[in-house]
Amino acid sequence: MTASADSGAAPRPDHLGRAENEALAERLGVLALSLTVERADDLTASCRRLRLAGEDLAALEPLAGQDLMISLDTDGDRTRRRRYTIRHFDRAGRSVDLDIALHGDGPGMRWAAAAEPGTGVEAIGPRGKVSVAQDAEWHLFIGDDSFAPAALNMAEAVPSEQTVVLAIEIDGPGHEQPSNVRAAVLGPRWVHRNSASPGDPAPLLDALAATELPPGRGHAYIGGEHALVTALRDAVIERGMEPDSINHKPYWRLGRQNAANGEPDRG
Ligand SMILES: Cc1cc2nc3c(=O)[nH]c(=O)nc-3n(C[C@H](O)[C@H](O)[C@H](O)COP(=O)(O)OP(=O)(O)OC[C@H]3O[C@@H](n4cnc5c(N)ncnc54)[C@H](O)[C@@H]3O)c2cc1C
Repeated sequence: MTASADSGAAPRPDHLGRAENEALAERLGVLALSLTVERADDLTASCRRLRLAGEDLAALEPLAGQDLMISLDTDGDRTRRRRYTIRHFDRAGRSVDLDIALHGDGPGMRWAAAAEPGTGVEAIGPRGKVSVAQDAEWHLFIGDDSFAPAALNMAEAVPSEQTVVLAIEIDGPGHEQPSNVRAAVLGPRWVHRNSASPGDPAPLLDALAATELPPGRGHAYIGGEHALVTALRDAVIERGMEPDSINHKPYWRLGRQNAANGEPDRG
């Protein structure tokens, strides 16, 4: 499904107000952004791409891999937020693309599925501390489909003379996503989940075991389901990588809702 906006934004719900986001953004040292959905496309059958646009983006200076924190609705008296990685940033066009995996039945997924051109969006950003390591010669990106936007955005920022090793789990054939990586790419690129359930680390652990890692100084970036991220970090360490050459970040947790601040439950 594809749609695009050609008229003004719909009114914003009061509870997703700019004032609250401005206070939070100031505390975090980032920007409060009032945006509008400009396009909503099904990138694949399991991934929805939303293009958000607005003049506030003129001041955004995101690093590859950084995200926006979107206000969705309220959970009790708290604003419920979810974080989505900036897949593309177009400063001249004042727009960002977010790619959202359509799995589970949470408020983030429902928001992405229902968003249409003209929908108002309040966000803050850029968030996130992980970007491309400057001291590495090769870069391993491994995780599930919620990590695909971060992995591909960072892989596209790797210089052409370096190497990218890519292993991203997706539902199956036909769910691969386009990218424009300048560096040489090794590894399986896409790992089909097939009959395994989301959050099962087996397909990516098998893919990692079958992947040769290049010589020289490498850096690993791991993202996705909570337990999957832990299992992959352990496996990468077993392959000889030092902990300070690994960034790992849980994005969601099997069977549990993320907290109102967008972070997976760590309890
Ligand atoms: C820094 C950061 C960056 C992120 N970037 C992206 C991004 O670019 N794209 C993206 O799609 N997501 C991304 N995420 C994850 C995203 O923020 C949400 O966690 C995700 O969209 C699920 O939110 P929800 O409200 O739909 O589900 P929740 O309310 O958190 O959970 C509801 C139910 O759905 C299940 N569930 C949640 N996610 C999945 C899944 N992927 N597969 C199967 N079941 C699931 C949960 O286990 C739970 O049972 C990121 C998270 C972080 C912390």
